[in-house]
Amino acid sequence: MIKNKNKGIFIVISGPSGAGKGTICKELMKVSNNLWLSVSMTTREPRVGETNGVEYFFVSKEEFRKNIEDGNLLEYAVIHSGHYYGTPKASINKYLNEGIDVILEIDINGALQIKENNKEALFIFILPPSMKELKNRLITRGTESEDKIIERFKRGYQEINEITKYNYVVVNDDLDKAVDKVKAIIMAERCRVDRIEEVFLNSQEEVIHEELISNKSFYNQDIIID
Ligand code: ADP
Ligand code: 5GP
Repeated sequence: MIKNKNKGIFIVISGPSGAGKGTICKELMKVSNNLWLSVSMTTREPRVGETNGVEYFFVSKEEFRKNIEDGNLLEYAVIHSGHYYGTPKASINKYLNEGIDVILEIDINGALQIKENNKEALFIFILPPSMKELKNRLITRGTESEDKIIERFKRGYQEINEITKYNYVVVNDDLDKAVDKVKAIIMAERCRVDRIEEVFLNSQEEVIHEELISNKSFYNQDIIID
């Protein structure tokens, strides 16, 4: 009855550091087989347990700048402690054209660059339940020193001010509920009328339609479907 455009959804997820973006994206990847999570490039040091090519491509500043010059990045920004973060172009269009949804977990500056060139992209902002809880999460994660945590926390306030640039907001209080909400947003997005390419009647439906319009009594006629 309907044919959808075979194009994946370009999904951008942002929010203050420690809100739980990475945790939510990991959970989403476990429950969906139609999603691809883009791996960014960064000049920051890998955290304990992070692997090159999995969480990020960890590169030197020189290598990052070369990638900018060569036009390999879809967007990039200088974020915490002067470190570069950017989205490699490779593979994104391939996945979108195959009908696979692509997630970018990036900051507000990167999100605005994507918005400029991709009007149809979906922008989701993840909020912590409170700033106190955000602080707790940053401390409990244990991946940054105190001064770096303060820097991230301050930046978090600035990012929250930009929330109106996004389409949806999800508060990450209970993790399962937050993941369900993001899944529901993506599901709703897939049902949008502007993602439909064609509405048509298949041959059996055409027969029924012909029978109904040629019939004297619409209500008394039984429709026989084999
Ligand atoms: P971000 O990617 O936004 O910087 P993370 O996904 O690294 O944040 O999460 C920050 C910390 O908060 C991690 O230690 C993570 O385990 C924890 N966390 C994430 N979501 C929740 C939640 N709903 N409730 C409690 N802790 C959470
Ligand atoms: P972290 O150092 O905690 O992994 O990430 C710090 C910030 O960088 C987060 O806000 C995250 O969303 C952002 N980020 C990660 N990858 C990219 C990217 O490719 N581009 C941009 N603009 N921001 C990114």
